[in-house]
Amino acid sequence: MDAHIKAKPRYRTTIFIIILFALLLIWTLLFFYTQRQTQKKHLAENELQLINQLQRANIQLWREHHLIDAAHITEDLLFNSTISYWLNEELDINSQKGIQEHISNTLRIMQEQHGYNAAYLVDLNGNIVLDALEKTNLELPDEELIAMHKAFQVASPIAIEPRLHPFFGFPFFGVITPIYDQKNQPIASVWLVTDVRKSLYKLIEKWPGISKTAESNLIMQDGDKTVLLSPLRHNALEHQKNNFFSTALSDMHGLFDTTDYRNEKVIATSTLINQSPWILVSKVDSNEVLKSSPQELLGLATPMVLYLLIASSGLIYIQNQGWKREKKLTLELEHMMRIDALTNVANRLALDESLDREWANAYRSHTPISFLMIDIDFFKKFNDTYGHLEGDECLKFITQQLSSVVGRSSDLVARYGGEEFSILLPNTSAKDALLIGNRICAHISNKNYKHLYSNKTSLITVSIGLATMHPHQEGKTINVNHLTQRADYALYKAKQAGRNQVIEFTVFSKNPTI
Ligand code: GH3
Ligand code: MG
Ligand code: MG
Repeated sequence: MDAHIKAKPRYRTTIFIIILFALLLIWTLLFFYTQRQTQKKHLAENELQLINQLQRANIQLWREHHLIDAAHITEDLLFNSTISYWLNEELDINSQKGIQEHISNTLRIMQEQHGYNAAYLVDLNGNIVLDALEKTNLELPDEELIAMHKAFQVASPIAIEPRLHPFFGFPFFGVITPIYDQKNQPIASVWLVTDVRKSLYKLIEKWPGISKTAESNLIMQDGDKTVLLSPLRHNALEHQKNNFFSTALSDMHGLFDTTDYRNEKVIATSTLINQSPWILVSKVDSNEVLKSSPQELLGLATPMVLYLLIASSGLIYIQNQGWKREKKLTLELEHMMRIDALTNVANRLALDESLDREWANAYRSHTPISFLMIDIDFFKKFNDTYGHLEGDECLKFITQQLSSVVGRSSDLVARYGGEEFSILLPNTSAKDALLIGNRICAHISNKNYKHLYSNKTSLITVSIGLATMHPHQEGKTINVNHLTQRADYALYKAKQAGRNQVIEFTVFSKNPTI
């Protein structure tokens, strides 16, 4: 007996699980990737702010030092009176030369010890009268002249912001400080000049990280112009039309995302340098910060892929076990559906399926097919005499006898219904089937199973109707039903003929309807 299990669409569930896990994997990767990118950005922002603060502190100190140096000059009464003496008194040549040397010396010491590129003494008309070596007759540039007037107005040093001017061949920062005589009358000023490339820019170029794109710039607002003071990696001193620096100027509260003068996306921060118009802008390319190396991605993906692979394999394994159990149960159920509960042989459903299959086989292989219909004689009386339970026992007994007589595995003993049994004998001729039928009758009656009210023998006996057909020789309208009907008809004839015998259906006994 074969169970016909419908193929389950289990592969669909597997594909579904795989797709689900793939989606989960993508989602997890995206989630962790985004988390990581955000974390990277925070780290970069923190680093950027920290470096910006450090540089800012250094720059502030640098600027203050310059102003303090200048203020010391203004407050140096001895130096001031020496200058006053040199400028006003009628001196002999030697004395004058000595005093001039003293002043130049002081300027030179200032220059050498404090790292200035030039230190000049300037008279009230803006003429540079003395440098660190000798007398000169240079003129103070206009911007410094204005600063000098301011210095006298406020009586303290004035800074001249970094700029380019033909006076020097380098970008320079200057401080002009006023000089007064003992009666507090302005008599001159000192102009201290520094090459910003060698000192100020160095403070901005120092970058503790290993970033390739990070940089800081010093900028300031000059009227409606944004002036770039520290051209770190580009040459122009002034960037008037620069949106990036304008943004930095307008957004001085910390971090901001923007695009810079190269049109690159950057993370930037800007802070004000105290007591100055300077603003320090630090930036780093977003791309550099958020860039992920293949190793990094691999490091992120591998454990997750492995984890999800193991998890999905586990799930598929559990699912598979489930399927196996289900299949086993289904098979058992299918089997139970085809077994007669009382006698444990094939039931009517199993018989009908086998009949169809074996009829088709016989048709294909050009072999005969035989069918025995077996009915217990006077069984109603048996029940009436011995009771229903005994009747059931008798049915089991008959089944055992039938099973012991048939030999081939392809032969099928089935309970046809009630006290009727059948035996399907594939590839069996009428002659052989008749032999089997007779053997059954003899076998059962020889068992001496008591049935006192059986008419003739007082024993249990059976009557058998036999039909044998050759499907391939039959017309198209003939099917397996004819085989069972013929056997049934032959059984009827066996009962008529006196029971306990086999009657074969022949063309002579043929019922005109079958
Ligand atoms: P015949 O020789 O003509 O076959 O006479 P019979 O009495 O055997 O004929 P009939 O078909 O009238 O009786 C069959 C009886 O089988 C009737 C019913 O009580 C009995 N029977 C059918 N199924 C079962 C069953 O499962 N258990 C028992 N104990 N009896 C059954
Ligand atoms: Mg009957
Ligand atoms: Mg009967």
